[in-house]
Amino acid sequence: MSNLNQFIQSLPNTELALKLGVYENSIHFAHDTWVFMIQGSEQDYLIAAGPYASKFEGDAFVSNQIQAVKAPLSHHNGKVLRELFPFTKPIPVLQAERSFGLGDRLGIAGPGHLRVFKEYDAYPILAQQSIRELNLTNRTYSDVLDAASFAVFKEGYHDGFGADGDHLKKPEDIEYALGLGFTMITLDCSDHIRNDISNMSAKEVDENCTLSGVLKERYLNKNFEIEGMSVTFDEEELKRNVLVYGKAIEFAASIYQTYFIEKKANANFEISIDETATPTTPTQHFFVANELTLKGVKLDTMAPRFCGEFQKGVDYIGDVKQFEEELKIHAAIARKFGYKLSIHSGSDKFSIFSLVGKYTKGHFHVKTAGTNWLEAMRAVAASNPSLYRAIHKYALSMFPEAQKFYHVTTDLNKIPNIDTLKDEELVNLFKQNDARQLIHITYGFILNHQNEQGEFVFKNKLYQLWRENASVYSDMLYEHIGKHLQLLYQGFLV
Ligand code: ZN
Repeated sequence: MSNLNQFIQSLPNTELALKLGVYENSIHFAHDTWVFMIQGSEQDYLIAAGPYASKFEGDAFVSNQIQAVKAPLSHHNGKVLRELFPFTKPIPVLQAERSFGLGDRLGIAGPGHLRVFKEYDAYPILAQQSIRELNLTNRTYSDVLDAASFAVFKEGYHDGFGADGDHLKKPEDIEYALGLGFTMITLDCSDHIRNDISNMSAKEVDENCTLSGVLKERYLNKNFEIEGMSVTFDEEELKRNVLVYGKAIEFAASIYQTYFIEKKANANFEISIDETATPTTPTQHFFVANELTLKGVKLDTMAPRFCGEFQKGVDYIGDVKQFEEELKIHAAIARKFGYKLSIHSGSDKFSIFSLVGKYTKGHFHVKTAGTNWLEAMRAVAASNPSLYRAIHKYALSMFPEAQKFYHVTTDLNKIPNIDTLKDEELVNLFKQNDARQLIHITYGFILNHQNEQGEFVFKNKLYQLWRENASVYSDMLYEHIGKHLQLLYQGFLV
């Protein structure tokens, strides 16, 4: 079985196999078994031949006395692939200097993403979804993981990737993700963070919190020096910290002890405190990090909420100078406690990426999600204007409903009326923030929209279009995600 050409020649549909079908980079050999991916008319398949082939489920066939299996891209076959080719299995990557999260909600962005990461040393987290994203896209963590495994196999990407159970809040969700082999958990502490404290008067704070002697001893009348900057606490500040973050710290510590301590899980641990009403001040960041460290928690990354606004799918909104000043301290705090800063809602934050690269000294984790969906929709606008127009109008009708779930400042009046736009102008909508946010936050509605017969109105047409125009989408991602990395690297490569 060492002669692959002979084998491919022997396939029943030789023409297709040779001229159209075989993804060149997917040809792999292990344990005397050849496996590669071919392009079917409706979907891709694995072809396996050799002793391991029978482990795949699918249609067995014999050609030129060679036993082979044509195997669909199912979860079972994903598992077999991961056993046979370890590079298709996610690994923990946050300990590396740079990592980058790519929420691929559609399960089709892998090829475009991997073209970028063949050029940068940051590790991609190809699988990264929150439970909300799973619900809105009708996917499972198995689907998300399999899509990543099949993508690295197809592209012949052997350098390693991560899988992030993003913004998880419940132990059962953490167990679900870890059980499937996810290699990162982002613990969302927002349910345990009190948002009402910032409105409390000093007197109310005082009445609501009694500081223990240990805490007073630990923080009051102290000057914590971090890279020449200082963090100090007065009594009121300390009390506010305890009230806002006390429960979240206990929650994070208990999750860590249950799942991560002493390398229980082969996975990275991130905590996110970004989904809060007010930005995380450097003092608050220090307090949370210090308390967690004293409880023995070892973080790989932490996501504070930075000043300004990190709205979905658009550039940073806010005072860049202030962001820079605060980032400097946040990055120093992260270094002191031995973890990386994690930048959430990192899609399209072009005006601050080089600052992130600079002040983290090239040690960062950045997460993107929605922008990958937006590029997919830009591909639709470019390839099928009439389908795009229908979706755009539907999105407008669903916007009021979608807006309830997001903090965005979208002004629909600023979006050009698409009836006045020529087909070739539709892609320009993706340069306009309000139109971007319109399409961004309605993704669940668009994908799930069904007619009275219960058939999807857009979903199947969209997937077909993305399949037929795979190279358009891949080119768009290569350029767009590439721009994220380019700016991040610009910050520390001087
Ligand atoms: Zn977040």
